[in-house]
Amino acid sequence: MDWKWKTIIEPFKIKSVEPLGFTTREERLKILNAAHYNLFNIRAEKVLIDLLTDSGTGAMSAAQWGGIMIGDESYAGARSYYTFEREVKGLTGFAEIIPVHQGRAAEKILFGVIGGRGKYIISNSHFDTTRANVEFSGAQAVDFPVKEALDFDKPAPFKGNADITAMEKFINEKGAKNIPLCVMTVTNNSLGGQPVSMENLKAAQNLCRKHGIPLFLDCARFAENAYFIKLREKGYAQCPVREIAQEMFELADGAWMSSKKDALVNIGGFLAMNNRDWSAKARQMLILTEGFNTYGGLAGRDLEAIAIGLREVLDENYLQYRIRSAQYLGEGLLKRGVPIINPPGGHGVYVNARKFLPHLKPQRFPAQSLACALYLEGGIRGVEIGTLMFGRRDAKNNFLAAPMELVRLAMPRRVYTQSHIDYVIEVLGALAKKKKTIKGLEVVEAPKVLAHFTAKLKPAGGRSA
Ligand SMILES: *Cc1c(COP(=O)(O)O)cnc(C)c1O
Repeated sequence: MDWKWKTIIEPFKIKSVEPLGFTTREERLKILNAAHYNLFNIRAEKVLIDLLTDSGTGAMSAAQWGGIMIGDESYAGARSYYTFEREVKGLTGFAEIIPVHQGRAAEKILFGVIGGRGKYIISNSHFDTTRANVEFSGAQAVDFPVKEALDFDKPAPFKGNADITAMEKFINEKGAKNIPLCVMTVTNNSLGGQPVSMENLKAAQNLCRKHGIPLFLDCARFAENAYFIKLREKGYAQCPVREIAQEMFELADGAWMSSKKDALVNIGGFLAMNNRDWSAKARQMLILTEGFNTYGGLAGRDLEAIAIGLREVLDENYLQYRIRSAQYLGEGLLKRGVPIINPPGGHGVYVNARKFLPHLKPQRFPAQSLACALYLEGGIRGVEIGTLMFGRRDAKNNFLAAPMELVRLAMPRRVYTQSHIDYVIEVLGALAKKKKTIKGLEVVEAPKVLAHFTAKLKPAGGRSA
């Protein structure tokens, strides 16, 4: 790539469009009140720019839509399955390829096979659904992020890395026989979508080899991670991203993927590995809960679209646009005095609401308050990662402060253009100028588990109109 211009040009032209949901401020105030200041309760058509998630929200290409038309819907042995299998094998090098309807289905099946009481799964950081599925099996999920991951202001190239020394100490304490798996999440979704270096993956492999522990990748954003390695790690600048990705997979014994991210489709996933004993058990579970081996909870056309997406995502023009867009949003926000996790990760920007709104204590939900203010100001929807989402409460049911207060602005793939991002920067910039007027929220009603999805809130000290 020799793009020397400042302008990010989207590496596609648009053939099919959808209208955006314009609303007035007055309408949005009504909508917010009716939604009880919970953005999950807002109809998507009332959102102008939807940055709630990058999962399953991407735009497929004309080639993928073409694949949808030629999908083979045969129950067993569909041609589309073999197209999919060939593509996933070619990319990952693993022998056993199991399709699933999305990432968490792969997790449920895998930890059903290898999890259980008394066991520990170790990781740079488990994603929420991974942790939930590990714990559902009876095992414990233990994270080993590097220290720089938690210093939001200080840039570092690979904040997604695992602390290998701490991992080894843990293995020695608990015994390798009680640790059936080490998972490296690439990129590290729970900690800002930050990349993991090849060096760190190699160190994880060495550690796992030494102790006889299988290493898997949770590879939802493998292409974004590989591109960061090309940009930031010594020795990879001239290496095609596909080869970097293949080198990442070569270090592992297996992987699972939520295809709703870097396979550029709206649904799908896979579980892949070399261990034939595990894969045989996984396929029994697959048939029980997902479907037959050659479709696993998906339609044949979905398999076709995944196969095409896995190739398109490694196009370096696409990846340059993708990573540059998140950086551009991050730079714009920093320039306007909006603190973020710096540098931005691959799939979006995380605003540091604790730092942005120091006048709000955690029990006033600064990140949720900012997310609501952002919707009210400009119809933009992000998601709170803070005291409400963590949801821990004391004996009197008062919320306990979370370790962080973030608003994640996740970027759907190939959906928004630079002008949409300029608009997001402008709106947050306007909020920065009057941030002292942003009021906190209080909870009216919140269930015990996963409170953030259904909690009802209102402006603190105000009326709940
Ligand atoms: C999204 C995601 C999952 C879960 O996948 P779903 O398709 O949402 O079920 C697992 N791990 C990571 C890192 C993810 O980003």
